[in-house]
Amino acid sequence: MSFTNIAGTIREVPKPVEKKRTTFDEIQKTATKTKRVMYPISGIVGQEMMLRALILNAINPSIGGVLVRGQKGTAKSTAVRGLAEILPEIEVISGCKYNCDPMDTDTFCWECVDKQRKGQIKVEKVPMKVVDLPVGATEDRVVGSLDIEKAVKEGTQAFEPGILANANRNILYVDEINLLDDFVVDALLDAAAMNVNTVEREGISVSHPANFIIVGSMNPEEGELRPQLLDRIALQVEVEGIIDIEQRVEIIERRNHFNDDPQGFRRDFESEQDKLRAKILKAKQAIGRISATRDNLRTIAKICVAFNVDGHRADIMIERTARTNAAYEGRERITNEDIIEAAEMVLPHRMRKKPFEEEEFSAEQLRAVVNGTV
Ligand SMILES: [Zn+2]
Repeated sequence: MSFTNIAGTIREVPKPVEKKRTTFDEIQKTATKTKRVMYPISGIVGQEMMLRALILNAINPSIGGVLVRGQKGTAKSTAVRGLAEILPEIEVISGCKYNCDPMDTDTFCWECVDKQRKGQIKVEKVPMKVVDLPVGATEDRVVGSLDIEKAVKEGTQAFEPGILANANRNILYVDEINLLDDFVVDALLDAAAMNVNTVEREGISVSHPANFIIVGSMNPEEGELRPQLLDRIALQVEVEGIIDIEQRVEIIERRNHFNDDPQGFRRDFESEQDKLRAKILKAKQAIGRISATRDNLRTIAKICVAFNVDGHRADIMIERTARTNAAYEGRERITNEDIIEAAEMVLPHRMRKKPFEEEEFSAEQLRAVVNGTV
């Protein structure tokens, strides 16, 4: 090869490189266009307690969230993401960025207050959604951003809503919730305390409704959750790998089937999904008719005293969860079984531990308390 040819070669080199780039770009475009096919929640094998905790919150958002603890590969994220497909519909004010509740005029955002004044409120039904809060999200992205210069001139127009706005009246999902930055945890705690998100910059403050269901998942091997946040989340479930051989085989088979033919797999579970949706809707309609008896409340109080919990939040959470569980099971009354199921999810992270003492939650002790043998 002579030197003259080198120049020629150099000129030719960019061509295949460019071609390669185009191909890569094309792949990128296709990748972003392809909607990820979701694994249906009713196709999950086992993990009943986790699924129940998620579903009960979907029926009754006032329960106050779920923390799912467990190792990787135990279907935690699959379950939470799959929940989106079976969530009931809610009524929202059309076009509102904060999903304002037409029935709750006291919590309207400023835009809806304005619309109401002008008689322009329109209502629509939309399914509840699962809103992701990624662990690395910036503060502006989470709470919203405020352009100070613009705020002085144009007022609230200068506010760009964040994830907490989108999550109002929906499910806020935080995978690896134990790895959240402190400023996000503080924002979540503030919002959870007041059901309002407030952004303050240089003396200017904007608030909007932020009443969401926190669903967190975490691998405890990677660190614990801040106690204040732990206390705010009503239910906790531990998920473990399944040891039943037949169930494990079933998991492999279903995963392979889903990977080979996702749409076909989804079709196979369509009727299960419909059944689950109908059951949730029925429970949502029934819950208002169910109330705890004095005896139910005594049982709950007795449990909380026996398990040495802090404060009274646990009692309230057990009552709400038990009532919702009764509705889900199609019962008109709360049974001791409902209370036991609820307590199993509310108590484990709320027992006051004495120094140097590893007090473990025991389901047997719980049954003994409820049945009056303790
Ligand atoms: Zn609004």
